[in-house]
Amino acid sequence: MFPMKKTAVVIGGGLAGLSVAARLAKNGMHVKLLEKAPKLGGRAVTIPLKGFNFNFGAHAIYTRDSSYIRKLERELGITVNWRDFDPKKARYDLGEELTEMPATLEGLYKTKILSATTAKAAFAIEVMKTVCLLERGEEGVSIGEWMKRTKKAPEVQQLMLLLASSNFFTQEPERIPSTAFFKYYQRMFKTSKAVAYIAGGWESLVAELERVIVQNGSEIVTKAKIERVLFEGNRVKAVETSEGLIEGDEFVFACPPKELAKIFEDTPLANSIAPYLMQRPNTVLVYDIGLKSRIDSPYTYIYDKQAKVFLTDISHYDPECVPEGGQLVQAIAYLKSEEVGDREHAQKRKDAIEALFDKHLPGWRDELVAKRYTERAAAQEIKVEDDQKLMPVQFHSCANAVFAGDWVQGVGQLSELSFSSGWEAGNRVMHRVTLY
Ligand SMILES: Cc1cc2nc3c(=O)[nH]c(=O)nc-3n(C[C@H](O)[C@H](O)[C@H](O)COP(=O)(O)OP(=O)(O)OC[C@H]3O[C@@H](n4cnc5c(N)ncnc54)[C@H](O)[C@@H]3O)c2cc1C
Repeated sequence: MFPMKKTAVVIGGGLAGLSVAARLAKNGMHVKLLEKAPKLGGRAVTIPLKGFNFNFGAHAIYTRDSSYIRKLERELGITVNWRDFDPKKARYDLGEELTEMPATLEGLYKTKILSATTAKAAFAIEVMKTVCLLERGEEGVSIGEWMKRTKKAPEVQQLMLLLASSNFFTQEPERIPSTAFFKYYQRMFKTSKAVAYIAGGWESLVAELERVIVQNGSEIVTKAKIERVLFEGNRVKAVETSEGLIEGDEFVFACPPKELAKIFEDTPLANSIAPYLMQRPNTVLVYDIGLKSRIDSPYTYIYDKQAKVFLTDISHYDPECVPEGGQLVQAIAYLKSEEVGDREHAQKRKDAIEALFDKHLPGWRDELVAKRYTERAAAQEIKVEDDQKLMPVQFHSCANAVFAGDWVQGVGQLSELSFSSGWEAGNRVMHRVTLY
C-alpha cells in the first residue's frame, strides 16, 4: 500500500488498460479508467448475436503456464476457467490428407509434415538448441535468412516457419526478425501448456478485471474519449475529454498508436510517438459461423497449409459461447500487408474458407444461424516483421507517462504483449509512487 493515495489515470479499456488498472487499484492507488467506447474490452470485446457470443479477437492463450494472465490470477485473485488445447484433436490439412501437428513428441513421431526420421531428429535437436539458448538469432537478420545461413535442413526450415506462421499470425514467417523468433520459441518450447482457451471468453476476463477495479474503490468511465494530453514541463498534467480536464499523478496510455499520435500532437512526446504511427498492423480476415446444432468432427483445430487459414471449434473449448447444442467455429486467414483492403483478394479468401467449411463441416450451410465476417481486423497493432519496432513502455522525456498494449515492447505476441507490457507499465507506476 502507498503512503498517500495517488491517482492514476488509465486511458483505454482494452485488455492492457484493464489489467494495469486492476493491479494499480488492488495495490492501493486510486484509478480512473477512461474508455471511449460504450463497452469495455477493446479488440477483445464480445459481440452477442442470436444467442452466440462472438469474440471480436480470439482468445487462444499461448504458453499458459508462464503467461501474464497467470500472474494476474495470482496477484488479483481473479478466476480464469482454463480449457487446454488438445493436440490430439488438431491437424494440419495438407490437401490430400490430414496429419498430426508436432506439438508433442508423439505428434512429432506421427506427423507427415516431416517425412524422414532423420528430419524429425534434426527438428528435435533444433528445439533443444533453442531451449538451451544455443540459438539466439542476430539483430537485423530475418529468420528466413538465418536458417539459410545456418544451413538448416530444408524440411526443418519449412516446419519451423510453419509453426511461426500460426504463432505470429503471418503468411510470411520468413520476415520475422531472427532475435524475436528465438525469444518467442525459447519460451514456447519450454511450456507444457502450449495453448489454452478461457471458458466464458474474453468477456469473463474483462468482467473479473472490472470487478477488481470497482471493488477497490476505483472508477471506470465509458464513452470518455480523450481528445488531448496536457503537459507541465516534462510531466503530463491532465487529459481532456469533451466533459473537461481529468488530472492525475500518473498516466497510463493503453490506446493504439494512431490514437496516441492525435492526442499527443504538439506535446513534448509528439516526435517520440510519430515513428510508431508508420508501422503496419498485423491484419487478418475473420469468418465466424454459429450453427444451431453441432456437426461431428474428430478435430477442433485444423490449419490448412495451402490456404493459410485455420479453423477452430471455439465452442468445444468455450461451451458458454453457444446456445444449447450449438457450435461456433472461427476461421482466420492471414493477410500480407499489400492484400489488406483488396476486396477481390478478400472475396477469394472468403470463398476458400467456405470451401474449407464444406470439407470439414459438411452440412454447415443448413445449420447456419449467425455469422460474423470481417475483411480486416488488427490482430496486433504493430506486426513483428522486418524493421518494424514495438514502442517502449516509457520515453525518457516524460516522467509520469507509461504505455501498454500489443504495440508496446513485452513478451510473446498478440494479447500476451498487451498483458506483459501492461505488467511492466504497472510496475513502473508503483515503483515511482512509492518513491514520492
Ligand atoms: C481477429 C483477431 C484474433 C485474435 N486472436 C488472438 C488470439 O488467439 N490470442 C491472443 O492472445 N490474442 C488474439 N488477438 C489479439 C487480442 O485481441 C489483442 O492483442 C488485444 O485484445 C489487444 O488489447 P489492447 O488493450 O492492447 O488494445 P485494444 O483492444 O486496441 O484497446 C485499446 C482501447 O483503447 C480505447 N481507446 C482508443 N482511443 C481512445 C481514446 N482517445 N480515449 C479513450 N479510449 C480510447 C479503445 O476503444 C480500446 O478499448 C486477436 C485479435 C483479433 C482482432
